[in-house]
Amino acid sequence: MNPIKISIIGNGGVGKKAFSFQFCYSYFIEEYDPVMEDSFRKQVVIDDEILIIEILDYYYDDEWNNRIKQRIYEKTDGFIVVYSINDKYSFNKLENYLKEIYKFKKTDDFPIIIIGNKNDLEDQRVITKEEGEEFAIKYFCPFFETSAKTRNNIDETFFTLLREIRKY
Ligand code: GDP
Ligand code: MG
Repeated sequence: MNPIKISIIGNGGVGKKAFSFQFCYSYFIEEYDPVMEDSFRKQVVIDDEILIIEILDYYYDDEWNNRIKQRIYEKTDGFIVVYSINDKYSFNKLENYLKEIYKFKKTDDFPIIIIGNKNDLEDQRVITKEEGEEFAIKYFCPFFETSAKTRNNIDETFFTLLREIRKY
């Protein structure tokens, strides 16, 4: 069975690794290694169907060769684009990530979920839930606030994305 490939992208430190780990292994990683990159696999059952999903968590920076990025994006079936609710800079960068997806996929009609992660850190919040929702509506993407720490809305994110992918 071919795995469904999901790329998780967003600024460093927003919780991409922790989010993927929590989904696959039900475990929260505290430590922070900005350049560790990985892919994770998990078997899921959705609407009575067994699927294997592969989460691609790669570290991109400006030096990253665009052709390599293009190759990864080309084989990606759906994207999770992440900011964290306590990091305005990560929110301001969302549009760039979406434009890159459109560019490399050559379409703006593609399964993408927008995530505002770290919603357990309410006292550090700088982006309201409404701001996140408005952004996602503007780009016709489903939106969740999540926590890789408490596991809030992690499964919901993946199942919503998988359902979107199956429509294509
Ligand atoms: P990445 O650079 O996007 O892969 O970010 P990481 O997954 O490495 O997470 C960066 C740091 O934020 C780590 O110390 C994580 O433990 C922490 N972190 C990630 N997600 C959450 C979350 O939902 N809540 C809290 N409180 N911390 C988180
Ligand atoms: Mg990382």
